[in-house]
Order: sequence, then structure tokens, then C-alpha cells
Amino acid sequence: MRAWAGRILHVDLSRKRSWTIPTSDYTDRWLGGKAIDVALLTEAGAWSVDPYGPDNPLIMGTGPLTGTLAPAASRLHVAAISPATGLLGASNIGGHFPPELKYAGYDHLVIRGISDEPVVLVIEDDSVRFEPADDIWGLDVMATHDALKARFGERSRSMIIGPGGENLVRYAGIRSGTFNSASRTGMGAVMGSKRLKAIVARGSGSLGIAYPERFMDACVRMRRQLAESAPYKNMMDTPKMLKPSADDGYFSYGNKTGLSGPNDGVVDGSAEVLRQHRTGKAACFGCPLRCQDVIDLPETGPFGIQCDPRIELNYMAELSEPRFGWLSYIACQQMGLDTTSTGNVLGFVVESVAAGDMSLPEIAADIGLSPDASNAEVYLGLIEAIARRRGIGDTLAEGVARAADRLGPQYKPRAMHRDGLELASPEPRAYMGLALAFAASERGDYLAGFPIFEMLGPEFGGAMARDIFRDASVVEPVTDRWTFEHKELVQFYMENISTVSDILGICRWISPTNGAPVREDAMAELLTCAVGKEYSGADLMEYACRCRDAVHEADVKCGKDRPRANLPDRLYGSIETPHKTLAGIDPDELAGAIRRYWELRKWQ
Ligand code: SF4
Repeated sequence: MRAWAGRILHVDLSRKRSWTIPTSDYTDRWLGGKAIDVALLTEAGAWSVDPYGPDNPLIMGTGPLTGTLAPAASRLHVAAISPATGLLGASNIGGHFPPELKYAGYDHLVIRGISDEPVVLVIEDDSVRFEPADDIWGLDVMATHDALKARFGERSRSMIIGPGGENLVRYAGIRSGTFNSASRTGMGAVMGSKRLKAIVARGSGSLGIAYPERFMDACVRMRRQLAESAPYKNMMDTPKMLKPSADDGYFSYGNKTGLSGPNDGVVDGSAEVLRQHRTGKAACFGCPLRCQDVIDLPETGPFGIQCDPRIELNYMAELSEPRFGWLSYIACQQMGLDTTSTGNVLGFVVESVAAGDMSLPEIAADIGLSPDASNAEVYLGLIEAIARRRGIGDTLAEGVARAADRLGPQYKPRAMHRDGLELASPEPRAYMGLALAFAASERGDYLAGFPIFEMLGPEFGGAMARDIFRDASVVEPVTDRWTFEHKELVQFYMENISTVSDILGICRWISPTNGAPVREDAMAELLTCAVGKEYSGADLMEYACRCRDAVHEADVKCGKDRPRANLPDRLYGSIETPHKTLAGIDPDELAGAIRRYWELRKWQ
């Protein structure tokens, strides 16, 4: 096979056995990446399993372009039944592990069972073995990363869980080095339940390309196109990129109780820290966008950080101290926690403290800090307490929905989640396309259905919408953030193009999801050259629809119900801040948009 490594590696941790099957059994129908992951999970029929039980398969999949010279071809998709939602869990990671897995000879991993003791799965070409991990169990992510490098060599690449995953925090992620994370839906907790501390890969193989010259031409064209695009320029100065939307109330302040604004000082303060401490930019394998900043703070040493999550943490915890965003982000990385869910949990605590149901000195004492600790110190301490399930951290490790159930009825309206997964900080009352994306996307992943046209506004968004939809009548509504009209088209297109990226193993950020220029036809040209079979953009979009349908069917089997306005009640009410007032989302209009989206998908 060209481009694909050709094998799917099955691993049974209970019996310490492994075997392979050919990837070609799946490629015609599913192509690769996320779609094959979902097919494998469907085959396992894991719909009613305990997410922490041996029968919940943890599945990881590269795409046919992963590890090739295609731009940003660094990605791997992760799937399992989610301990946060009980539905299909999904997360995506870049970096350098995914290409290495392919060079070792494997497109996908399917990991079942539970090891009796902490273990590292080591994959070196045809050698697949299980090594003890007692010495690294309990270590934070970077200490684990360094220990693995010392043990398996500098060239080895790894996927790691931190204490959050070990302790089954329902929103623990899987990390790869300091930069990359498969954060959402608790995939790190599934890995922890298997007592799998890390997966290490080292490969000496290579990938065949069917039409190498045509492939290189396509890669060079695409790189040039990306280098001239606005997202590329924006990535070089992330605070400048975030400032206009933050000033305009794009981020929730606190627990969907306030809005970011021009005078909150968060983006400017964060930018100042970046100016003082940035030592460089970094990228995943083969990516020209380089969206990561390397920052070297005296408290932490060098870390790689992506743009908005650090600001999300400031906003959700209602703390404008710029260093808090950076330090809390790094604490989440070190503990192996999802920054989005963790930020949301902090917002839940902030509101509960303001309501008098919790007190910061009591929380401080409960997690072993001085009662005089500052707010920032308590919230930073809480991140580690959650990961290690200390004191109230044990309850908060369950996520806001379950924590509210445990803590009492007054906490319930404060749980900002969809289907059990904490909502991210962008404010859906400010953009109706965002509201639909939160409500209708798989796992509430607003980024998969990101309403880029309304984010970019009538001029730039309008030009993009005209190009994509080729229907003048939809351009105005899809760029208007206050209406649900035609937003189902945006949701449908954006999810499909994101899914194409997730299937091929390239980063969504080079696609229209991020306002970038790489469309489905260009992706199809890369795939055609790589594998030696003609694909069109329309073919790829069909694969994306098939994959989205399979995810939907899986979620229905896991108990997901009919389309309905499914966001937290708070979002149907208005919000008033000194600089802006937003009306609540109209639940009937939202339900109507969800229904129209289901009709487009032909779901019953
Ligand atoms: S855009 Fe960022 S996350 Fe995506 S591949 Fe490039 S460096 Fe990695």
C-alpha cells in the first residue's frame, strides 16, 4: 500500500498479547484516521461498556497523509467510549508521535484489556512489548517525558498520561511532549483505567508515495498558499489575533456569567508575558503554521503553548493576572488535564464561592494550602488537587455535571456542560452559529462546526462563504452572527471539512475551519498523488458524511436522544455587562436550526 503503513496493531493489555490485521480491510469504505477509528469501535460494539472497563477499546488512528510531506500532516485521532459523556469520545493530537507510529509500520492502534500493573507499551517496528512503568507512575507529564527519553532514546516519541489520567479524572487528556495533547472527552482517563502510562514508538520504515513529483508540486503549492494566508500571519502574533474578538465579548468571563471586554486586561497582560518570556515558535511535524509559542518562565522552565487556552483559563477563573493564565495552563499540561474542562470547573467554583456555597480559605485548607493563599494560588493548587483527587478535587474530578449532583441542588444551574462535557469559554449568545455548533456538533465541539464566516464578518467571511456555497442568497445570513438562518449549512460544511482533515491525518487549522485556504479539492489532490488512486473533493466530503453518520449512529446506540435545544438553561437568558448586553438564545430557534441540520444529514 502507498501512504498507509498497512497494518492495524491490536493489543490486549490483560494478556500482554498483540497481533496485526491489514489496514486495507477498511480503507475502501473509510479511508483512514477518524473514520477507521469509528469503524473499529463500531465493530467492537462497545456501546454499553463501562468506560473504565477492559472492553472499552482505546483506539488511535493516523490518516493516509500522516507522516508524509503534506503540510501539517502530523495528526492522530483518538476514540473510545467517553467517561465524561458515555457517548463516543473523540480527540485529536499532532506533534511527532503520529508520524513515528507510521514509520514503525502501523496506521492504527486498538488497545483493550487492563494491565495488572502500570505498563509502557513499546512499539519499535515489528517489536511490540510491554515494559514496567512502576517507576514513572505518579510522575507529571514532563518528568515522564524525560524519563522515557532517557530509557528509549532521544528519537523515541511518546503518548503519555499524567496524574489526571492515572486517577481517572473524567476530563484527563493524553499528552505528547510539552506541546501536544488529545485533551477532550477523557481519553487520558480511559488510558489510565488500562494502567497504561505511556506508549512509545520508534520506527525505521518509510512511506511510499505513488506520484512523487506531482505530490511534491502539490505540497509546494499548498505551502506557498498557506504562507500568504491570514491565518499564517496571525499565528505569528497570537495576542494580536485574539484581541479584537476578546474586546468584543467572544470569551465568557467566569461561568458564562460575564463577558470578556476591552478593559479587562487579559489579552494585553498575557501578551506582555509572552513578549518578556517567549524564546521561539514551534510546530508539529511538517507544519508551516507554527501555532505554538515556546515560553520560558522562571517558575516552570520552557513549555510549548497554543494560543487561546491560556486566556480561557484567565477568563473562566475571573483572574486577570496574566501569569495565572500561563501557569494554570502549564499546570494542566503537567497534570495531564484538559484545559477547557478544567477552566470550566474553575468557573463553577468561582460562581459557587460568589454565591457563598464554597469559600476559598476552606478550599485552601482542604487541599493542603495556607488559608491565606491568594485566589490565584488556590486555583493553581486546585488543578493539582483535581488531578490527584485530593479533598474537594476528588468531587471536581468528576466534571461539573456529576460534581453538581454530588454537591446539592443549588449547584445544578451552575453546571455548564453539554451531555456531560464541559463547554468551552467562547460565548454562544454572541454568535448564533457558535450556539448551533455547541448544540449540534459531536461532543459539543464548537471548533468542528466553527462559524468562521460570522467570525470574519461580511467582507472576509462573505468572500469565503461565496466561494464555498456558491449561492448569493446565503452569504448575508451566514455572516450575520445574530441569526440562525442557514447556519445549518455552515455546520454541515465545517464539520465535513474538519472530518476530512481528521480522516487524512492533517491539521484542521490549514482548512477553512480556521479561515485558511486549503479546501477539499486540494486535499483530494494530495491524497490522489500519495495513494495512486483518483479522489475528488466531493469524494472526500462523502467520506466525511459517512464518518459523521457513523459517529451519530454510535451516539444513538450509546443513548443520545432526539434533536432538541440541549444547551444549559443559563444560555437562554440574557447577560448584561458594563460594556455589552446580549439577549438569550431563543430555544425554539436553536431547536429549529438543529432540526434543519439533522435533515441535511438525513438523520431520523
Ligand atoms: S497548526 Fe498548530 S496544531 Fe496544527 S499542525 Fe500546525 S503547529 Fe500543530
